[in-house]
Parts: sequence; C-alpha cells; structure tokens
Amino acid sequence: MDVPHLQMYIDGEWCDAASGETFEVRSPATGHVLASLPKASREDVGRAIDAAEDAQPRIARLSIKDRAVLAGRITEAIRPNIEAWALDLTLEQGKPIKESRLEVSEVIPNLLWNTEDLKRVETPVLEGYSKPEMMYLLRREPLGTVAVITPWNYPWLLPGEFVVQALICGNAVLFKPASTTPISAVHFLEAMEHARIPRGAMNLITGPGPTAGMELVENPKVDGICFTGETLTGEEISHRAGLKKVGLELGGSGPLIVLDDADLSKAARDIALGCYNNAGQVCCANGRILVQDSVHERLVRKVVEETRRWKLGDPRKEETDVGAMNNEPTVEKVERHIQDGIRQGAHVLSGGERASGLETRLYYPPTVVDGVTTDMLLGNSETFGPVAPILEFHTLEQAAEAANLPRYGLSMAIHTANLRRAFTLARELKAGQVVINDPVLYWDYNHPWGGFRRSGFGRVAGKWTIEAFTELKTVILNVGESPLPGA
Ligand code: NAD
Repeated sequence: MDVPHLQMYIDGEWCDAASGETFEVRSPATGHVLASLPKASREDVGRAIDAAEDAQPRIARLSIKDRAVLAGRITEAIRPNIEAWALDLTLEQGKPIKESRLEVSEVIPNLLWNTEDLKRVETPVLEGYSKPEMMYLLRREPLGTVAVITPWNYPWLLPGEFVVQALICGNAVLFKPASTTPISAVHFLEAMEHARIPRGAMNLITGPGPTAGMELVENPKVDGICFTGETLTGEEISHRAGLKKVGLELGGSGPLIVLDDADLSKAARDIALGCYNNAGQVCCANGRILVQDSVHERLVRKVVEETRRWKLGDPRKEETDVGAMNNEPTVEKVERHIQDGIRQGAHVLSGGERASGLETRLYYPPTVVDGVTTDMLLGNSETFGPVAPILEFHTLEQAAEAANLPRYGLSMAIHTANLRRAFTLARELKAGQVVINDPVLYWDYNHPWGGFRRSGFGRVAGKWTIEAFTELKTVILNVGESPLPGA
C-alpha cells in the first residue's frame, strides 16, 4: 500500500524540504507506517521565519473583530472533522479513541474562550505620579514572530492552547510539532487554511527538534518561544534562546497525598484516572501516591481494585481505556524505573511488564507498585507511563518534603476531609496548582496553568494566554502643554 505523503506549510503554500528529505510516522497502535513528511533543515526553517517576519505587521493591523472572526472560522473548520481527525490522532499517538475525540473537540471551546478573553482585554490609563501633567496609556502589543514547539502527548490539545491564540494576539506563528505526531498538526493547518488565514501568518515546520527546533530557538528574527516538553530540553532552550521572550511548560511528577481522614474510594478513583489516562503520558499525571501510614493498606487494596477496571487494548475500540504508549524510549524508561524499584525493594501488585499478544510491543498495562521510597526513580522523577507508585508517610511535614523533593512543581493534590489540614499542607507544596479532593490531572479553560521550579515558568490558559503572547507598552502623553504654538 502506498504511504501518503504530507507536507509542511510555509508562506501560505504546502511544501517539501528543499533537500527533499523525509521521515516516516509509524503507528504505535498497529505498527504500520501512516505517512511520510518533510524533514526540514535549518535553511527551510529560516525561509519560514522570513515569511512570518514579513506577514507579522499585517496581522497586527487586523482589528480584534477580524481576528475573532478568523478564530471562529477555524473552529468551524475543525467541527465536521472531529471523528476522522480523532481516529488519526489515535493511530499516530496510541491513545484510546474516546480520549482522542475529547481532545480534538476541546480545541473548539478553548479557542473560543481565549477569543472572548482577547475581546475583553483592558489596560489602565494612569495619572503621572511625580508629574501631574503626564498621562500613561498602557497598551498590549504582540511579541512579533512566535515559535510554538509542542510534544507528542497531546498533539491537538497543546497546539490548541497556543498556536491560534498566538496568532489572534497579532503575532506571526512558527509551529513545530513532535516528530512522532505531526499528522494532527497537518490537519490543524488544513483547518486554518480552510478558514483563510493570512499568508505567512501561520507556518508549519516538520522535522527534528535539535536542528529544525533549535533554529527557531536561536534565529534572531524569532521574538518569542512557547515551548512544551521535557525539562532537559526546556533547560537547553532557555540557555540558547538569548533574550527572546520564553514560556516553558515542562515535566512533572505530581503527587496525590492521601491523609488518614480522606474518602479512600474517591481517592482511589482519582488516582487511577491520574495514573492511567493517556497511559500516564501526561505532564500533570499522578506520578506518585503519598499515603498516610494508618490508611496505607486500605488504600492500596482500593487502588488495585480500581486498576483492574482499566482495560488495556486496541485504542480504536470504544471499550479500551489504555492504548499503546507512543514510542519505544518512553516504554524503556518505564521499564527502567520499575526494575530500579524492584531492585531496591518495591513490589509490583498489578501489571509490571509489557503486554504480549497485541499488535506492537508498545502496550504497557496499568501497574501498581507498593513500597516505593524517594530513593527510587519511581519516587523521585518523572516516569511518564501507566504506573501508580505508592509511598508511605507519617506526618504532614514528611508528606510535603517527599512531594517537593524532585523539584517538579506543576500540579499536586491533597485528599482529606479537613480543610484546615488541606490548607496547611497546600501552603507547603511548591507547585503552580494544588488540587484539593480531585485528581492531580486537573485542567480548566480559565485558571492559570504553569509550573514552579523544574516544571518551567510563565502562565497560560484564559487571560494568562493573552498576557503570554503580548507585551505591555506605555504611551506617555504630556497633557500639560499644547503642541500647537500659542494655544
Ligand atoms: P521533548 O522535550 O523531547 O520534545 C518536545 C518538542 O521539542 C518536540 O517538538 C521536539 O521535536 C522539540 N525539541 C526537542 N529537542 C529540541 C531542541 N534541542 N530544540 C528545540 N526543540 C526541540 O518532549 P516530549 O518527549 O515530546 O514530551 C514529553 C514531555 O513534555 C514530558 O516531560 C511532559 O511532562 C512534558 N509536557 C509538559 C506539559 C506542561 O504543560 N507542563 C504538557 C505536556 C507535556
């Protein structure tokens, strides 16, 4: 069977790399090659950056109304394709079809929410403090050309939070998706082309991170970088980006802390969702479970029971809850963490090795590991797989110390019936969000999203997205003197 060839989108045209080089995308779910795409060189990326730089002033001059209409047209171009594009997402990423459907469709309300935020931007007018004849008029202006670099775990949701939002803030955009999931990005561009985005306003580049991605980071014509991905990559980008405006959404190892007065059944359900959704390949996955010693055994029993309900299998089937993991290095990392835990005395209560008898070797079952400590990789780093590592603590101070130890700080959760204890502990947790009595994996359109420490910096979602893609300018007006002679 012929493999479809998909293209990049630069300066309003679908195109290949100048060298003609390509790479293939293989389905983690079936093992089949799904498509070939251009492997952009630094020169190809340079051409896209030039097109963006040229287009940017035209986009900045569009009225807010025209930008909002454009965003609305993009959502309408996505809507009729949700089912087909969700299936392609499942095939290239490996996640269950029911998750894919939700992911593609969520892009629509999220973008419409941000469009409403843009319509309602307010900036103050200030009186001069030391000079009363002066007035300060504050404006929000675009950054200029913005690179959006995204990972493979949410190929629709993450670009859906950034790319069009950057554009409607008046920027020209260079979008580079991960190389294992670029098909969803091509579909997103199809929707934008259908919506008649201005030429050069949105450019899609496919190719390797260390070359194509790094050109976006280093090229002096790029003004802003919105990066989502691993902490180590984020650190490198931060070193190499110079004085560009950078937002970094990085890794996590989100603990869910269960105190002895918690509703253990609810905690176990939230743990399973946080650990196994998208096969645990989530920045705000429930990376670790910290349980108070007196309820440890009861909680473990309930977590194992919940785990049995999560069905591993072909992600195209409606009944599947856990599909294939996206790529071999990620499965190998899970194996390394589990082996390290076992070597140091942890015990696997469910799952614990790759599933056999499915179409590829990338299926890993929901896994519960008890007796984990902070000396183990499972207890002190990001595992990024369908694993529930359980650690025990005695005092609230010990819980906070274990939670903060890996120095990731994206999302953390506390389960307790006592709000005073919840707030006491919440103050000690170094994270961008602390969820009380719900899963670590918690997200909404309108509250700020972003990390402390090794989870990155900057905030997005709701009005914070608009702030991230704009800069403040102050126009200073002397109202004490007339510019007209004699007036
Ligand atoms: P990754 O860092 O390997 O890659 C992310 C993107 O960066 C890809 O497009 C890749 O091609 C590109 N890239 C790689 N090296 C680059 C370089 N040197 N210069 C420029 N670009 C480069 O991450 P991944 O494995 O795709 O994604 C998983 C990670 O993403 C996990 O750590 C996860 O926690 C994190 N993540 C964070 C959030 C958040 O909101 N904080 C959301 C989703 C995922």
